[in-house]
Amino acid sequence: MPEVQLHVELLAYTPDPEKLISTASRTCYSAKDLDALREMAEKRDNGPYIRGVLGSGHTSVIEHASFTFGIEGVSRTLLAQITRHRLASFSVQSQRYVSQEGQALFDYCLPPRIRALGPEAVERFREQMQTIQDWYDEWSHLLGENSAEDARFVLPGAAATRIVMTMNARELLHFFSLRCCNRAQWEICELANRMLDLVYPLAPTIFENAGPSCLRGPCPEGKRSCGRAAEVRQRHERRRSHGEE
Ligand SMILES: Cc1cc2nc3c(=O)[nH]c(=O)nc-3n(C[C@H](O)[C@H](O)[C@H](O)COP(=O)(O)OP(=O)(O)OC[C@H]3O[C@@H](n4cnc5c(N)ncnc54)[C@H](O)[C@@H]3O)c2cc1C
Repeated sequence: MPEVQLHVELLAYTPDPEKLISTASRTCYSAKDLDALREMAEKRDNGPYIRGVLGSGHTSVIEHASFTFGIEGVSRTLLAQITRHRLASFSVQSQRYVSQEGQALFDYCLPPRIRALGPEAVERFREQMQTIQDWYDEWSHLLGENSAEDARFVLPGAAATRIVMTMNARELLHFFSLRCCNRAQWEICELANRMLDLVYPLAPTIFENAGPSCLRGPCPEGKRSCGRAAEVRQRHERRRSHGEE
């Protein structure tokens, strides 16, 4: 099916992230050895302790927890944005090594606003993608061996890609703050919210206030504010109540 949907899953993550972070931060403030610190992290409720450390601004401790996501059904347009996050690690499906030649039609993402226009608009978009596939095949044929690296120049921002991405918890908080915001582009906003849904239950203290700035104070966007802070808070509450189930 050439038209693809966003899919994101957690491929791997630091086990018991909050116990690890509790051990790491207690290392800074205690003369006890690692066994004793680990035992404290095992036996105590780490939530209030982590909250206190983070509240003091000692946020580097959450860098010890990292999360690896498998992401597919996203556009090259999204790729250009997400790879601006310099503290993340990426492996991305290559358009040089993975040729689209000979495919009936390459995988692509459809913007919801085009879908909302109805079946005729969806079909028009598909036809345009088909035209691009024909251009791609034409250049592949003309260029011969190793043609994918040049034929790909005609592929659109809608072309789908697949990414494996790792971020630590500190970078994730920053990412969620920017990209869960309704002012972010719709595709990366949806991805960021789904990523937050996945990590929240694993580290509910670290991510308890994760999301756009309007969850923690006034919207910084001023006149450009989406005006939907109430909706953002509702999604946040739903996430919290699912996480506690
Ligand atoms: C709504 C929105 C619209 C945008 N529009 C545009 C646009 O029109 N054009 C455009 O080019 N970009 C645009 N961007 C991208 C934006 O400018 C950032 O490149 C992107 O959001 C990554 O953010 P970052 O640099 O804070 O994060 P990361 O790269 O994830 O870095 C995290 C943090 O580490 C620190 N850091 C990382 N590297 C450095 C460094 N070299 N020096 C000092 N501190 C560092 C900073 O504190 C930074 O916030 C947009 C982003 C958003 C959310």
